[in-house]
Amino acid sequence: MHKGNVLDSQKSLKEASLQILRQDARVTVSGYFYAVDFDDSVDSGQHRVGKDRRCTCPLGTACPAVLAVADYLKEGGKRAPDPPPGYFPVAPAVCPVCGAEAYYDSRLNSKRRGAGWACTKGGVSHYWQAHGKVLQELFAKNPWVFPPVIGPDGKVLYPGLRRDEVITKDDLPRE
Ligand SMILES: [Zn+2]
Ligand SMILES: [Zn+2]
Repeated sequence: MHKGNVLDSQKSLKEASLQILRQDARVTVSGYFYAVDFDDSVDSGQHRVGKDRRCTCPLGTACPAVLAVADYLKEGGKRAPDPPPGYFPVAPAVCPVCGAEAYYDSRLNSKRRGAGWACTKGGVSHYWQAHGKVLQELFAKNPWVFPPVIGPDGKVLYPGLRRDEVITKDDLPRE
């Protein structure tokens, strides 16, 4: 048999089984993710699909769980909540600064920023650049933690407190 035909039939076999998996999938919202369970599957409970259409299992974007979630949403399924700006539930696949491949880095895990990651091109400096940008955008939108209080006579009763006045050392990029 021609080698190409074997590969083709293997490919279509794989696609058929993916299709079946996709149809039998049960999707539920779990935190910022969609948890996908395939019936009779040994690795049940291991498929969590994020907003970036990537499964947390080793298959990543190629996982049938991603398609199952797309079907689920098309049928009006409940959407997972959006994470707050600057919070990464999982490390991104690509660096938001330069688009190069990003990878998980547990040393940068943070309660407020979520999963730590670094860039294959820019290293941890791109991590800090990305978070710096998010902070800047947040400040631009609403610089006030407590807006100033002006009395009826126009007198400033309270000068207000801006976010950049309460920025902590933890928020500043490390050199
Ligand atoms: Zn998966
Ligand atoms: Zn980068």
